Amino acid sequence: MLGNVQAMFLVGWRLCKLYEKGKMTPGRASMAKAWITLRARETVAIGRELLGGNGILADFLVAKAFCDLEPIYTYEGTYDINSLVTGREVTGLASFKPAALSKLSRLTFVAIQAT
Ligand SMILES: Cc1cc2nc3c(=O)[nH]c(=O)nc-3n(C[C@H](O)[C@H](O)[C@H](O)COP(=O)(O)OP(=O)(O)OC[C@H]3O[C@@H](n4cnc5c(N)ncnc54)[C@H](O)[C@@H]3O)c2cc1C
Repeated sequence: MLGNVQAMFLVGWRLCKLYEKGKMTPGRASMAKAWITLRARETVAIGRELLGGNGILADFLVAKAFCDLEPIYTYEGTYDINSLVTGREVTGLASFKPAALSKLSRLTFVAIQAT
């Protein structure tokens, strides 16, 4: 857990330095967000395992850490989307497109599939 926390801190620190030099790109920010939140998820999972059954009781703070972390893994870009943004910058190829460019929204598509 300590190793993960230290590594997450260093990736964040590196991103700050890139930002200060005007070298932070969307791909770099996305990679850091995706990687850090993945490691953070792993870290709370280790904490939960450490406490056994108590790890999922509200009386102990590990369960709270789980709940606090899930939104961070998801909002302002999910892990998957941040990975795709990073991949686009690395390869120059976008494997996703804005929803506005799709003929059908995903919800309409799901509704059609259901009928
Ligand atoms: C606590 C919280 C606060 C929030 N606050 C705000 C806010 O203030 N303002 C705001 O605008 N939004 C806010 N959001 C919304 C948040 O930004 C969205 O939940 C997030 O962008 C994910 O979108 P979604 O929930 O529609 O999931 P979806 O887009 O439906 O994604 C579902 C799953 O599919 C994956 N996925 C989606 N598209 C692809 C793809 N092309 N390729 C591969 N995988 C894909 C995703 O990674 C995810 O795992 C908040 C969310 C939470 C949980």
